[in-house]
Amino acid sequence: MHVKTSVSKLEAEIDDIRRKLVALGPIHPGSVSLQYQTCGNPNCRCLRKDNPERHGPYAKLTYVYRGRNVSRFVRAGCVEALSPRLAMFKEFRRLIDRWIALSIQIGQQTFFNPEQKGKSNRARPKASRPKTVRTVSL
Ligand SMILES: [Zn+2]
Repeated sequence: MHVKTSVSKLEAEIDDIRRKLVALGPIHPGSVSLQYQTCGNPNCRCLRKDNPERHGPYAKLTYVYRGRNVSRFVRAGCVEALSPRLAMFKEFRRLIDRWIALSIQIGQQTFFNPEQKGKSNRARPKASRPKTVRTVSL
């Protein structure tokens, strides 16, 4: 009884996660960092020996997709538009991770809990077998 209650609690949280996922807006993986760079021109201020002034800052977006690191420079005007998508992606990941954790907990209680299995095995023979078997004579 207790297990059933806790499984349905976990399932209710998963339903809540489903609703939140559907409500999410546009997403994009990654994070933006600001970078300063040198241009390679030996006469440029960025390569001065004394007090060099590197170019930038440039906004660089980095993320991992299908196991590969991706990094791209983002135009200054796009950083503000991209930021909510990055935040939304973090929320997306958080919800998915929570869904996985809850599913594992449910699986643990439903399929893999040895204590529970022992209980149900002990209870099963008497509870699930028919009490009387009728034979019909023809
Ligand atoms: Zn330069």
